[in-house]
Amino acid sequence: MVKTDLHLHTTASDGRFSPQELVKSAASLGLAVIAITDHDSVDGVAPALAAAQEYPGLRVIPGVEVSTDVPHGEVHVLGYFIDHRDPELMSVLERLRNSRELRAEKMVAKLADLGVPVEWQRVREIAGRGSVGRPHIAQALLERGHVSSLKEAFAKYIRRDGPAYVEREKMTPEQMVELIAKAGGLPVLAHPSNIEHLEEFITRLQKVGLVGIEAYYNDYPQKVVKYLASLASKYGLVASGGSDYHGLGNPDETPMGGVAVPVECVAKLFALVGQKAPA
Ligand code: AMP
Ligand code: ZN
Ligand code: FE
Ligand code: FE
Repeated sequence: MVKTDLHLHTTASDGRFSPQELVKSAASLGLAVIAITDHDSVDGVAPALAAAQEYPGLRVIPGVEVSTDVPHGEVHVLGYFIDHRDPELMSVLERLRNSRELRAEKMVAKLADLGVPVEWQRVREIAGRGSVGRPHIAQALLERGHVSSLKEAFAKYIRRDGPAYVEREKMTPEQMVELIAKAGGLPVLAHPSNIEHLEEFITRLQKVGLVGIEAYYNDYPQKVVKYLASLASKYGLVASGGSDYHGLGNPDETPMGGVAVPVECVAKLFALVGQKAPA
């Protein structure tokens, strides 16, 4: 039995805990394998790997989660076992983070126009050195008393197509799958349940290097998990999984390690990079 969580956010993006804190909690939960998958950033990877030196029973997979552009929405692509020092990957991620910055400033301006101002400086502070995202803006709205929960901030203002929502620069899923593969990583489609024409989409991405889809995810109902796992099997893809834990303290948040991922799925991912999964 390998206890694992392959979808975790840290302060390098919109997670509440630092890579060091996350690694420590993972070890105390008895997890054997975790992947650090921050939005558009690999900055949490090196500190997590360093912190994991203290815990021989815990293996940290370097990862990333990148938002990509599709008509009428966005699709997230995970990269596992990436070379987090790959220069091309790093420069693309930096560009995406810069675009997040400009977009967040525009959202702050829209919120002021809507009569619910927050300080840009404060949003920047909440994001710390990590890539700035909507959860940081939601936190600033909460602090200013404009909303009474992060959920409300999304529902009222910053959800996709909400009155303060602003788009940002993104690459296509194909470009991202190729970039991750070039950086030595395994491209895996994140939380795919809402993607339109999923089978067609998967086969398209498989042609450019997709190796898996996330089937065991967060609060996905058993029916959805079964469907996605069957798709993985139909197309010869690995079914991956994780909690998407952000540590934001919502009462309904799935805890780290809270999603059961079959041992053979973890083993398949390790096998794809020529490694043996921890027993
Ligand atoms: P961004 O990458 O800046 O567009 O922000 C997306 C992040 O916001 C997601 O990864 C979630 O962590 C969070 N998020 C998106 N929608 C909601 C929602 N309705 N309620 C709470 N958090 C959300
Ligand atoms: Zn997030
Ligand atoms: Fe995501
Ligand atoms: Fe995520």
